[in-house]
Amino acid sequence: MSLSQSKAVFDRVVTRLGVTPLPELLESLLREIASLLRVERVGYWKLQPDHSAIDRQMQFLRSTGQFDLSPQALLARDFPGYFNALKESNLIVSHDVMADPQLAEFRDVYFKPHGISSMLDVPVHRNGQLFGVICHEHVGPARRWADDEVELARSLTHLVALAIETDLRQRAEEELKNALEREKELVEMKTNFVSLVSHEFRTPLGVIVSSSDILENYFDRLKPDQRAAHLQDIRHSAQQMSALMEEVLLLGKVESGRMSCRCDPISLADCCNRIVDEQHSATNGKCPIRLELNGVDAEAHGDEGLLRHILNNLLSNAVKYSPAGQAVRFAVRRDRTFAEFEIADRGIGIDPADQKHLFTAFYRGNNVGDTPGTGLGLVIVKRCVDLHDGTLTFESRPGDGSRFVVRLKMFSGNGRQAKSASPRKRPIRSP
Ligand code: ADP
Repeated sequence: MSLSQSKAVFDRVVTRLGVTPLPELLESLLREIASLLRVERVGYWKLQPDHSAIDRQMQFLRSTGQFDLSPQALLARDFPGYFNALKESNLIVSHDVMADPQLAEFRDVYFKPHGISSMLDVPVHRNGQLFGVICHEHVGPARRWADDEVELARSLTHLVALAIETDLRQRAEEELKNALEREKELVEMKTNFVSLVSHEFRTPLGVIVSSSDILENYFDRLKPDQRAAHLQDIRHSAQQMSALMEEVLLLGKVESGRMSCRCDPISLADCCNRIVDEQHSATNGKCPIRLELNGVDAEAHGDEGLLRHILNNLLSNAVKYSPAGQAVRFAVRRDRTFAEFEIADRGIGIDPADQKHLFTAFYRGNNVGDTPGTGLGLVIVKRCVDLHDGTLTFESRPGDGSRFVVRLKMFSGNGRQAKSASPRKRPIRSP
């Protein structure tokens, strides 16, 4: 082993710190260590947080050039002498393991089966605490570890520790960044909720209050059709508020994990025809919805309730954001075990800047103008699609319309398990 060789290894590893993923970096480090120290087996073992065992993370075998990544654990209660030595010394050097009383506990169960004759173990420390160990295991006639080999093993183990530290720090930074992002989203959600409540609740409430005032104060002077118009305004506003409450409650139910996915037989043709009829009447026939059914005659299986939330929201959006009279395409087709639902409109489209926020609760696109809405529909859609183990994709261009595609596995039928929604830790984001 030459100084220039070991320096080259250090240089190579240092330039890859924080760039190469840790497992890959460790693999090449173990390979280099085995070659520099001419050891048959070099392994990285990680100490369990409660110090009850060490778990093998990877082991390089020099003669085959292969890694053994299969899990193996050595329990502290089976090897008390070794674990004490690990904690108390910075090094376990054994020139002849068979004659070493400190390592007698390994003799029959570990050294003999692997043909190990000499061993050099260097603990890996993190923040001054034992974190793992690099095990150099020599196979063949017993070998005397030279001082410079021991020093090199120590230095290379420091390099392993550095790689681990860099990785852990990177992960911690990533987690912090995610937490900050989440915090920002929560603030945004709060702002959006306040503006939703102030607008979407105040407007219908205002109508209810003023119409009922008029009816109360001027009832005798109003003509029957004027009274009817005020009553209709009140009913319409109350319905609007109730629909909003329904959406908020539904989202709450979905987010708290109180919704599950059933697996019932469904006739997609009947279900989709019904939804189209409902949408036509809910939107007073504002836009024709052209339903195309392709190969979905066979019985499908899934959760009709979830499917209705998904399709009703997507279709009502397509109509809501399209000019009156502009047709909306609703294509349902079978692709092997999947049912694919495509809802395409030629409406206002969605600004690219808004697209990544569409699945954040209460978020609304900048081009919606006076079109009423809550910014909850797509969040609900995404969550229902997730519950159904499906996918949701979309493409949209401002002024050119939008196309949403949902794919759900509905034709396998057998063995689909009902699944409960787990409470979400993160807000729903774009798929
Ligand atoms: P909203 O109640 O505002 O429609 P959604 O969650 O259903 O809430 O949709 C979020 C936003 O996505 C909408 O405010 C709108 O900006 C945009 N959007 C959704 N669907 C369409 C569509 N078909 N055409 C244009 N914009 C859409």
